[in-house]
Amino acid sequence: MARDLSPKCKKCRREGKKLFLKGERCYGVKCAMIKRPYAPGEHGQARRMGLSEYGIQLREKQKVKRTYGILEKQFRKYYEMASKAKGNTGSLLSGLLERRLDNAVYRLGLADSRNKARQLVNHGHFLLNGKKVDIPSCLVKEGDLISIKNENGACFQDLKKTLKNYKTPSWLSLEYQKLQGKVISLPVAKEIDIDIDIHLVIEHYSKA
Ligand code: SF4
Repeated sequence: MARDLSPKCKKCRREGKKLFLKGERCYGVKCAMIKRPYAPGEHGQARRMGLSEYGIQLREKQKVKRTYGILEKQFRKYYEMASKAKGNTGSLLSGLLERRLDNAVYRLGLADSRNKARQLVNHGHFLLNGKKVDIPSCLVKEGDLISIKNENGACFQDLKKTLKNYKTPSWLSLEYQKLQGKVISLPVAKEIDIDIDIHLVIEHYSKA
């Protein structure tokens, strides 16, 4: 049997959930979670031992970090920002993650995965309010306009056709003919497109 060697797919298999890290492939039959929906490694198919409460919280945190492609230091910083602000910490943390520029680019459909969006932002392909921004972690705010620096670039071929029927979450609006999008409100937790229990993450940090 052909082995799945993709490090990204291994992350999904380890979490037991699709994290949508490889763009189009994630939606097709070649997705490793369809072919091998169990943890990688020699004993991957063996039944998992029950995880402790701590273990469950830790796994959930890993899943969120892997989905958004962020490291522990930055993730903790988001948690601290959320816990100091007024309101529900879980919702505030989800909102901060969603407001990352790379995530907004992905949710607008301008890149087919969060990883791809991060790479494209890093390489300076996007403008924020008309100015080049190459920091994927930059947080967008209400009223911001995200556009492509050079829409004729090889990375964006055929994108207008692909986006014609694309539906953004309600906090974003897309003008597909111009390949640009606007932040019309701040994101709310219920619109996150991944199956995460952010409260487990909050519990994990609040005990640390
Ligand atoms: Fe790989 Fe995407 Fe499937 Fe995850 S969802 S296993 S990244 S193809």
